[in-house]
Amino acid sequence: MTDDPTEFRGWVRHGNVLEILPMRLRPRRPTDVVVRNLAAQACYTIVSNVLDSADQIPGHAGRARSPGHGAMGVVVEVGPQVRRVKVGDKVVTPVLPACGTCYSCVRGEWHACGHKNDLDFATPDAPPFAELEDGTPVWQDHTGGFAELAVCPEPWVVPVNESTLSNVELATLACVPGPGWTFGLIGARIEIASTVAVLGAGPLGLSIIQAAKMAGARLIIAAERIPHRLDAAKKAGAHVVLNTDEIGDTLVERIHELCRPETENMAAGGKPIVGFYGGTGADHVFEAAGATFGNPTTGMPADDTGALLVSQGVQATRRGGFFVHTGVTKKTNDPKLWTPAPGPFDYNGKRYLSAAYGGGNVLRDIPRLAKLIEMGYLDAMSLVDPVLPFEKGDEAIWSSLNRDKLLPIITFQD
Ligand SMILES: [Zn+2]
Ligand SMILES: [Zn+2]
Repeated sequence: MTDDPTEFRGWVRHGNVLEILPMRLRPRRPTDVVVRNLAAQACYTIVSNVLDSADQIPGHAGRARSPGHGAMGVVVEVGPQVRRVKVGDKVVTPVLPACGTCYSCVRGEWHACGHKNDLDFATPDAPPFAELEDGTPVWQDHTGGFAELAVCPEPWVVPVNESTLSNVELATLACVPGPGWTFGLIGARIEIASTVAVLGAGPLGLSIIQAAKMAGARLIIAAERIPHRLDAAKKAGAHVVLNTDEIGDTLVERIHELCRPETENMAAGGKPIVGFYGGTGADHVFEAAGATFGNPTTGMPADDTGALLVSQGVQATRRGGFFVHTGVTKKTNDPKLWTPAPGPFDYNGKRYLSAAYGGGNVLRDIPRLAKLIEMGYLDAMSLVDPVLPFEKGDEAIWSSLNRDKLLPIITFQD
């Protein structure tokens, strides 16, 4: 960076080009916090933004944008209305805000915080955060991360001054593993001695498997098709790993078979196995795959919409069990993937949850999760690969697209 604190470099997607360009911050709002990024994830959602930003995100056609969400760094400037942090604070800038005072926050529905609308694509008339040397305005995707500086409204910054974790470990809390751990331990809390099926064993599914192990699940089933992720699922704590390429369309039956009641004696806490109201299926099913974007080198799934796994996940859940849908899916009316209305849903008392950041309160839960990593209950570094310098940010994004490794993280010079 130069001596001018508003000048910085960052990855910018303009037209069909993704490159590092010099930029200068535009004027900040009174509630804005300027963060000097130290580490940032290449979450899979960023891939879709970089590939298809003009088509997929309303109001963004033709705009120059700096990608990213899911970073950590140090505060270098605060607006006059900011109270949560001060200059010099170490912060995580997660994919979800927590204001604490809006309609949703006062009801404890943190995942629906109204400040989600602070994001540029949610309100397309939001101002650009920076400009190129020729004055071209640049918008920041979400909370940024792939530029040396980010501008985040106050509800989006979480101080972690007390944490002893590395920058890379702290960056895992901003998206993907952070929400995965939160789903399993907080937002969709896994019961002790329950049965859990995790559909997809990328960095999100693996973090849910870690949470299931920590929560004391008696059976953890992972379903995955990419070989290195099948191995990672075992290492993370899955007891049974199903290769969905090998078992074809029997995934739902396999989960029902594995998750039978321990006794059929209904006078002793059991339930019947067969019959219209049979008692098989997992207590908790987590869909952790989502849609596929672009043309990954590590095998294209038969269903690139991600809808089939949502249908299968609901069907694999026992009556009265919990189904959690984490991935972003593409729209489809294909009856092979998504049955006609009411879709895969049924009349069996299953509970459904879809939530940003696992339904957690980032201000409360990021410091708590950081402590669990410090104490060795959760293993952040086993989910991270590769770690690359900021200058190789494009490599990190393409690694995420290709699913050839796990969670790529870029780091900046401290
Ligand atoms: Zn993300
Ligand atoms: Zn709120």
